[in-house]
Amino acid sequence: VSKKQTKKSFDARKSQLAIDFLQQLDAQITHGKIAELTQSTGGVKIVWSNTLKTTAGRANWKRETVVPKHTGDSANVDVKQYRHHSSIELSEKVIDDELRLLNVIAHEFCHLANFMINGIRDNPHGKEFKVWAAKCSQMYGSQGINVTTKHTYEIDFKYVWTCTACGCEYKRHSKSIDPKRHRCGACKALLEQTKPTPRQTPTSQLSEYQLFVKEQMKVVKSEHPNSPQKEIMRIIAERWAKVK
Ligand SMILES: [Zn+2]
Ligand SMILES: [Zn+2]
Repeated sequence: VSKKQTKKSFDARKSQLAIDFLQQLDAQITHGKIAELTQSTGGVKIVWSNTLKTTAGRANWKRETVVPKHTGDSANVDVKQYRHHSSIELSEKVIDDELRLLNVIAHEFCHLANFMINGIRDNPHGKEFKVWAAKCSQMYGSQGINVTTKHTYEIDFKYVWTCTACGCEYKRHSKSIDPKRHRCGACKALLEQTKPTPRQTPTSQLSEYQLFVKEQMKVVKSEHPNSPQKEIMRIIAERWAKVK
């Protein structure tokens, strides 16, 4: 089966996969509570987004306070009721296989549980989140699911350029960087394409200064672990001036 066919079959199944897995998570991890809380607003909406490109998913949640109708029974007046509006946005671009999809859904599900069940509004990856995350990882770990507090689902960029001096990586979905025209944003050194087809700039083509920077970068960084890149480059330039 070609990669293209796999992607096509995934695209055809992904909407249903997302819905099914979210339901499963709610049933097994939160005992149906998410469905219950969002029943009056039609459940958690799953929205596939074309504009979400730098992150794989995002959980949105809003709580609306419902003013109970006065029915003459004054005992209930002080009981606040809420209507939970929630959705999970999923990136069409970033999520390109089933395992990533399930991992993203599990992560965003933990955000919703954190918001809706724990009522946490200001600490998205706090201890309550971690409890849900651990439950998910434990229950679905054998399926390759691991919920962490980071949003680092490896994004499969087609192109990567690496700075020849500081090693900064520039990832793009299209071939939008031209190493002849573009330089490293951090240190202004040359960039080289490292994905696809690592086209190494032969060492002989690097200038003496670039070689010096390459050599000194690690040393200076370890000597000044808290200095910004700009400062590191200044120190290296200073050393270069001395050895030259
Ligand atoms: Zn998160
Ligand atoms: Zn650089």
